[in-house]
Amino acid sequence: MTFKTIIEPFKIKEIEPINVTTEEERVKYLKDAFYNPFKLKSEHVLIDFLTDSGTSAMSSRQWAAMMEGDEAYAGSRSWLKMEAVIKDLTGFEHILPTHQGRAAERILYGYLGGKGKVFISNTHFDTTRANIEFSGAEAIDIPVEEAKHPMLDHPFKGNMDVKELERLINHYGPENIGGVILTVTNNSGGGQPVSMKNAKDVKQVCNKYKVNYFLDCCRIAENAYFINHRETGYEKKTYKEIAQEMFSLSDGCVMSAKKDGLVNMGGFLAVKDKALSDACTNLLIITEGFATYGGLSGRSMEAIAVGLEEVFEPDYLKYRIRSTAYLGEKLYKMGVPLIYPIGGHAVYIDARAFYPQIPVEQYPGQAMVCELYLKGGIRSVEIGSVMFGKKDKDGKFIPAPNELVRLAIPRRVYTQSHIEYVIEVFEKMFEGKENVKGMKIIEEPEFLRHFTAKFERL
Ligand SMILES: *Cc1c(COP(=O)(O)O)cnc(C)c1O
Repeated sequence: MTFKTIIEPFKIKEIEPINVTTEEERVKYLKDAFYNPFKLKSEHVLIDFLTDSGTSAMSSRQWAAMMEGDEAYAGSRSWLKMEAVIKDLTGFEHILPTHQGRAAERILYGYLGGKGKVFISNTHFDTTRANIEFSGAEAIDIPVEEAKHPMLDHPFKGNMDVKELERLINHYGPENIGGVILTVTNNSGGGQPVSMKNAKDVKQVCNKYKVNYFLDCCRIAENAYFINHRETGYEKKTYKEIAQEMFSLSDGCVMSAKKDGLVNMGGFLAVKDKALSDACTNLLIITEGFATYGGLSGRSMEAIAVGLEEVFEPDYLKYRIRSTAYLGEKLYKMGVPLIYPIGGHAVYIDARAFYPQIPVEQYPGQAMVCELYLKGGIRSVEIGSVMFGKKDKDGKFIPAPNELVRLAIPRRVYTQSHIEYVIEVFEKMFEGKENVKGMKIIEEPEFLRHFTAKFERL
């Protein structure tokens, strides 16, 4: 028998209360936060869709494993467990633990980067781009054409434009390519999956020119689900086998375990090449910690070892992907413009289409993020010109390709009734939407400005 309702494949053993706030209270909280939800206190948030990063609920098995944490400085038993799980999953010989994804990025891209180097990706995540640019290198995004059309239905909108990849390698010269990075799923590009065929095509080009090919594999389990359900030839493979095949194509990977590692903190870097691993290990020891903990506690490494196994459980992945799609499809039917099909970890709303009266230089995404908080206490994040907008040499505004708002769904945290509430808040978002005004930045830092910028309403 098959049922329409996909239940959460877990029971609740422990609860964390949510503070219920009123709209009047939220008006004040948002003003105090300079209209930037990153500055809100989490106790003032009802439903926190800011990120799916580090916000997962751990399982009883993970909590139990944490008690086994071996906090030895060197050669910790917990490290050996984590290392074994990652070796089995990725097939890479050299594993370096890091406190989170960006630490692995800084080490790897800092080492391979520098002035004159170029990195090419389907889409660099914001911390990836920041670490590459901070090293002096350049980061170029080449998603496939389909990715640029939010409503276009295509099974693998996360793919990289392989023709453009080859053109860029020839243009810059293979010796100047720091690395090619395939982000699976493509977070900034809408949480869209990458096909195995695309991963193979990228490998072929990288092999031909002998350039490094890395996976940013934060959501490799979610990506494997989509491959299993959408790509011919993979219906019978397990999710883990699909992930293993994808790893086998690349020279290494960077992972934030705060995503598909199902933990609150952690990450790693894994590479095939010993010389590269040795160079990275030197950098690891300087800033992260000794090579057998890299900034992680023994108990955190235990939780990662269990999380990386649990994330491939079929019932979990089905619930995960289908419940994200449930929210997205309800909003879509209501007429909310969004990236379609729905990605794995988040629903991405096209704020420019929702608020056509707000010009891009007045940040329609940031306006929507504020409205969602005021109306329903929902915290979300702008992925548009606040995050990726630039100024040219003459100070002229260059907008991001899209003005999106991301509703990122924490793993195993919210139930269907929370989601029904969010859907109701969106019904209210239509009331008076034509009167919503844009935003102005009044203060911003040099890098990753979306985290700390201050705004004013126009
Ligand atoms: C989260 C993320 C990172 C960075 O990881 P942190 O753990 O937040 O430092 C890198 N790439 C992608 C695709 C991510 O989603």
